[in-house]
Amino acid sequence: MNPIPFNLPVVIGNEMKYIQEAITNRKLSGDGPFTKKSTELFEKRYGFKKAFLTTSCTDALEMCSLLCDLQEGDEVILPSYTFVSTANPFVLRGAKLIFCDSSDQNPNIDVDAIEALVTPRTKVIVVVHYAGIACDMDKVNAIAQRHNLLVVEDAAQAIDSFYKGKPLGSFGHLSAFSFHETKNIISGEGGMTVINDEKYKERAEIIREKGTNRTKFFRGEIDKYGWVDVGSSFLPSELNAAYLLAQLESIDIIQKKRVAIWDAYHARLKSLQGRLKLPFVPDFATNNAHMYYIGCGSLKERTELAAYLKQNHIHAVFHYLSLHKSEFYASKYTGAELPNSDMWTDTLLRLPLYYDLTIDQANLICDKIEAFFHV
Ligand SMILES: *Cc1c(COP(=O)(O)O)cnc(C)c1O
Repeated sequence: MNPIPFNLPVVIGNEMKYIQEAITNRKLSGDGPFTKKSTELFEKRYGFKKAFLTTSCTDALEMCSLLCDLQEGDEVILPSYTFVSTANPFVLRGAKLIFCDSSDQNPNIDVDAIEALVTPRTKVIVVVHYAGIACDMDKVNAIAQRHNLLVVEDAAQAIDSFYKGKPLGSFGHLSAFSFHETKNIISGEGGMTVINDEKYKERAEIIREKGTNRTKFFRGEIDKYGWVDVGSSFLPSELNAAYLLAQLESIDIIQKKRVAIWDAYHARLKSLQGRLKLPFVPDFATNNAHMYYIGCGSLKERTELAAYLKQNHIHAVFHYLSLHKSEFYASKYTGAELPNSDMWTDTLLRLPLYYDLTIDQANLICDKIEAFFHV
């Protein structure tokens, strides 16, 4: 049997053609026609006020962090069960991280635990829509409004997913998406910053262009450009944008396929509900089929199941390690125990899910999982 990898980057059809076109254009640096077209498509499809392509979601989150204008010692509330890129951009600005526990129903931040963590130093709440499943954004935004806080959505996994009918990434003041090759639509490495509050638009443009007002200059609004603020180089190359555009134009095809695979897993694994925790999608959320994960009964069980699948040439992988217990942050962390974050750290296992995975393969993976549990 051919090994089944955890992920295989999707190629949908026009990638080579568009990359060739970018080369022919003799315009390879950022903000050329492919960047422009992709950005406009995102803005149009999801109604985002302003989107900026970036080199990664990590960079998009760094842009968000710079825009939050944090002072040394300001506090940022975020889940502990997340990728380091949710946290690093805020640490780089001198913020203190206040980790919040996850829900026990799914790995998203426990929105009911957020408000108790707010202090006079709190500036930002960062939420992560884990597996592309929405956090309860009405609750998050109500807390933010009560305490005058900014909300940043780490929507890295959440493209084409919705909360009460509105696209994720449009609820925070700022949000960030990823087009890393493990996400639903990709450009190898790539990301996007979304600005939902107009007042951040001009500064975002400057931060993204190394702290210069170069974008304004190219629009002909000023006759020379210079250094006006802090910033960095967050623009992706046109080669990346070309790959991304091909994917974006086919997003409905990609999503349909992913959802079919997700549904196949879910239909089969229902028989194991009780022994396994299956993904929980609240009524207010849609499922963009970014990920199919299962929650095992213990770390030991997960380790054995992953090893059993590996013997059967199936690569299933665990995910995050609680950041409040990380080598880098444990000694700085002064908050409470976060039992759900630790539970997901120990028990969550992600199954292969990528565009080229067949339903037969998904069924075969389920066969093996059932065999492991002797059902
Ligand atoms: C993938 C991911 C990131 C980082 O995205 P990059 O584009 O690789 O920088 C950040 N946060 C979450 C939740 C992710 O899943």
